[in-house]
Amino acid sequence: MKPPLLLHICCAPDEAWVVNTLNDAYSLHCYFCNPNISPEGEYRLRLAEAQRVALHFNVPFTADTYDPVSWETAIAPFAVTPEGGERCRRCFALRLWRSARFCADIGFPAFTTVMSISPHKRITMLNEAGESAAAAFKVIYRRFDFKKRDGFKKSVTLGRKLGLYRQDYCGCRLSRDERDERLHLKTSRRS
Ligand code: SF4
Repeated sequence: MKPPLLLHICCAPDEAWVVNTLNDAYSLHCYFCNPNISPEGEYRLRLAEAQRVALHFNVPFTADTYDPVSWETAIAPFAVTPEGGERCRRCFALRLWRSARFCADIGFPAFTTVMSISPHKRITMLNEAGESAAAAFKVIYRRFDFKKRDGFKKSVTLGRKLGLYRQDYCGCRLSRDERDERLHLKTSRRS
């Protein structure tokens, strides 16, 4: 029998590659838990795409309730920090804490997150957040680094093949503003 593993999902392309990689070894359950995503329309779009991937691979899927206030509260003291800093640490901690709680609720012994596939996310920060959440709910956080062996590139390729939506900002309103600034800078350099 395959060991159960709860998979925290942030978006469909990352989910697709990780499910494709782990499905033979684990009995997976996907958990979409992203109170960080803004605006709500973007949240609904990413959720629908993530559901589509779970259906494609025939993996059970659950979505957390959309609770953007919890994210605003968690990052409030660090809202001015750039992507990759303390606000992301708080964001990871919140999402993985909620995932660990769900993992314990459904009686799964272990969980992990697909977020390590992103070259923009610090693996040490992710692992610390996962382990501290796991300890709080007496479950195990499994350390993976899905970006290894060209994981990110492969997720892009598989996402294209499945026709999945791929976002161009991490998820929160601050990362969206940062994306807008980058685009603005690029355009003004050209003109
Ligand atoms: S940039 Fe991404 S990880 Fe960092 S706070 Fe925003 S949504 Fe969370």
